[in-house]
Amino acid sequence: MAERTIYLDHAATTALDPRVLEAMIPYFTTEYGNASSIYTLGRHAMQAIDRSREQVAEVLHSRPTEIAFVGCGSESDNLAIKGMAFASQKKGNHMITSSIEHHAVLHTCEYLDRFGFKTTYLPVDEYASINPDDVGRAITDQTILVSVMYANNEVGTIEPIAEIGRICRAKKVPFHVDAVQAGGAIPLDVVALNVDMLSLSAHKFYGPKGMGILYVRQGMRILPQLQGGSQERGRRAGTENIAGIVGTATALRLAQEEMELVTPRITALRDRLIERVLTIPRSRLTGHPTNRLPNNASFCFEGIEGESILLSLDMLGVAASTGSACTSGSIDPSHVLIAMGFSSEWSHGSLRLTLGKENTEADIDAVVSALPGIVEKVRGLGLAVGV
Ligand code: PLP
Repeated sequence: MAERTIYLDHAATTALDPRVLEAMIPYFTTEYGNASSIYTLGRHAMQAIDRSREQVAEVLHSRPTEIAFVGCGSESDNLAIKGMAFASQKKGNHMITSSIEHHAVLHTCEYLDRFGFKTTYLPVDEYASINPDDVGRAITDQTILVSVMYANNEVGTIEPIAEIGRICRAKKVPFHVDAVQAGGAIPLDVVALNVDMLSLSAHKFYGPKGMGILYVRQGMRILPQLQGGSQERGRRAGTENIAGIVGTATALRLAQEEMELVTPRITALRDRLIERVLTIPRSRLTGHPTNRLPNNASFCFEGIEGESILLSLDMLGVAASTGSACTSGSIDPSHVLIAMGFSSEWSHGSLRLTLGKENTEADIDAVVSALPGIVEKVRGLGLAVGV
């Protein structure tokens, strides 16, 4: 079983698709021009960026001019939220987000406190679903931004984005969506979703790390957070990462083209995994039972530390997570599970298994046959918590 890694942590990151690497290589080697230069080599670089922007726009159903390439998903969230907040200071100082966002959103909102902004953090139900009516009720005449994630990175719940977008539009409040976990997994039509800004991260859909996308609907004004040159239509200064941009667009296009083929297969594997894991005593599925990302199977086991399960799985060559990659290593229970109402006895014992296109039935079977024994052993070792 330990001959090759059984990688079940695709929500943390994915391997670069070889076709993406192939598309990127020329821009590390022969096509090394700066896109701002007017000679042929520079023009080639600019053409590569333009083509990439068109490809991304096609997937998002947007205009190419509405797409900005940035340095990661976190930067995209930061630019959307700070950029809108600082551009709207004369209109108001109130923002709305949810209590289960990624720290790239939560910590950005907290940071803005010191500049006089105030944020309302909406609750979620036991499945991590946000009630769109709560958004409508929280909007005041001071509200300058609503930011809600498309799908949760820990438990995979898909939020009612189109409905929240409809409410925001009726009240003329800009709406930002962190779609980092949704990118490449579910449709990203910004028109159907009624969103004004949308963030993506390339390494979540078999693209390069250190690349993000921010969609900004035409007419929305945001202040850039990096001062310098006028790259990305003045929204993000800095010489463009051409290879990264080409890789991002190629990866997003491939994910979109292959979604119809990949999704049913991954969903079937996910359901097989969920069914078998839930036969373990004192286990629970976390997140919405049906309205969840096709690749996300997340659980809680009562009375144990998720980290102990991870270590045992790692010894068997299985890569998994207890929640968001950014919080693993910390012993605080996940803010997402706490917001969903899980007690400390349950929330410490979380396990997130996120599938990818290379996973097989044999991978799933290997994990589900090992997991009951691991949980039993960890419980028997007295590594219990909160009891
Ligand atoms: N938003 C969500 C929902 C995420 O899951 C992540 C990464 O895990 C991010 C934002 C940050 O993306 P990046 O790692 O590209 O900065």
